[in-house]
Formats: sequence, C-alpha cells, structure tokens
Amino acid sequence: MTSGRESLTFIFPPAAPVGLAIDGETRLFPVGRVFCIGRNYADHAIEMGGDPEREEPFFFAKPASAIIAGGGSLPYPPATASLHHEVELVVALASGGRNLSRSAAREAIFGHAVGIDLTRRDLQDIAKRSGRPWDMAKGFDASGPVGALVPAARREPSGDASITLDVNGERRQSGTLGQMIWKPDESLAWLSTLVELKPGDLVFTGTPAGVGAVVSGDRIAARITGLPALHCTIM
Ligand code: MN
Repeated sequence: MTSGRESLTFIFPPAAPVGLAIDGETRLFPVGRVFCIGRNYADHAIEMGGDPEREEPFFFAKPASAIIAGGGSLPYPPATASLHHEVELVVALASGGRNLSRSAAREAIFGHAVGIDLTRRDLQDIAKRSGRPWDMAKGFDASGPVGALVPAARREPSGDASITLDVNGERRQSGTLGQMIWKPDESLAWLSTLVELKPGDLVFTGTPAGVGAVVSGDRIAARITGLPALHCTIM
C-alpha cells in the first residue's frame, strides 16, 4: 500500500504555493486561501456609503495566486480605469478550526504583515449596483501584494499602531489599527463559523479611509508600525 499522497499523479505539475517572506527567517510561509473583510474601519465604511453601527462583518476572497510576495512591480490590470489602493493589516494563520473562540483565534495566528487590497473600483461599483459578485473587482491577477510577515510570538501590532499609505511620497491613507470595528480575533472567530480555517490562510482585515486611484508609474509605500514596509510600483 502506498499513501494517497505518494500515489497522486498529475497531468502537469501543480502550481507551487505562493511563499511569503518571514522577517528574520529563511523559510517561507505557504499561502493557502485569502479572505478579506469589507468595511472594517468606521471612516472607510462611511466613505463607501455604509453604516458602521449596524453592519455585521462580511467577507470576500481573492485567489491565492493573486498574492504578490514582497510587492515590487505590479502590472496595471486590464478592464479598469479606477484601480484603488486599500492598505490593510494581513493576518496569517498557522492553525485553524471551526467555531473558534476569540482566544483560540488568537492562538491560530502565525504572524502579521502589511498588504494592499487592490480593487478595480469601477467594476466593484457596477457589481454593487447590479447585485453581482465582487470577484472580478477584487480577485484579479496581482491584486494582493503582501510584505514580509513578523511572527506574533516575536511582536504583535498594538491598537495604537499607525497604518498608512503614501503614493509618490504623499499621504493618502492614515489610521490606527485600534479603529477596526471588528478586531482581528473577532473577525477570525466570526469567519470560522462560515468556513473551517486552515494553516496557510491569510485574512486581510480592512482599510482605513482615504482609498483612491493609482495610475501607471505611481510608487506606493504601505506601512504599519512594527511591521516591514511594503513598496510597490504600478507598471
Ligand atoms: Mn479591502
């Protein structure tokens, strides 16, 4: 008897997982699934026409292949004239489970990184108006640059950590992690009632106000206090 894994034969080599750098470590974090929380900062919920007082957390996803480890040069995507930046704290999971308590959710966290939830805002606006899915607005190629992870065992970002995004040296987004409506452990606990969380999962935890468009040639610097900065250039 051979194990199932050894006996698998594919018609072509399966894609290798995207690997995120880990600060101070040569091994990589293998990305599994990518979940994102919508409207998780009150000021951004208001700028998008939502009501931060009443809304329960809601989630969407990007394919893992959309993650660009370390940022760098990113293609301007097709089919949009309104490519928006959303700087976000990204939580990476080392374990998972269903129906996690907040403390169990905290224990599942491997580490944190800075990410950008790039969005084709014009396609998202059409999808919202017509009641269609967001996938093509959110899950396109190279839509998720993510910086190096810092293990939570070494350092955890605090509520007063600043989260900022600059375009060509000009501040566009600015907030603190404490402004999140649903804290990362609450979001993970909620998400674990919808899917079984697994090692390798990433969760983008929402963006503060100030989202806006970038164009070819723009240089983006995304930062969260205590985490390695993420630099991208739109090609
Ligand atoms: Mn977002």
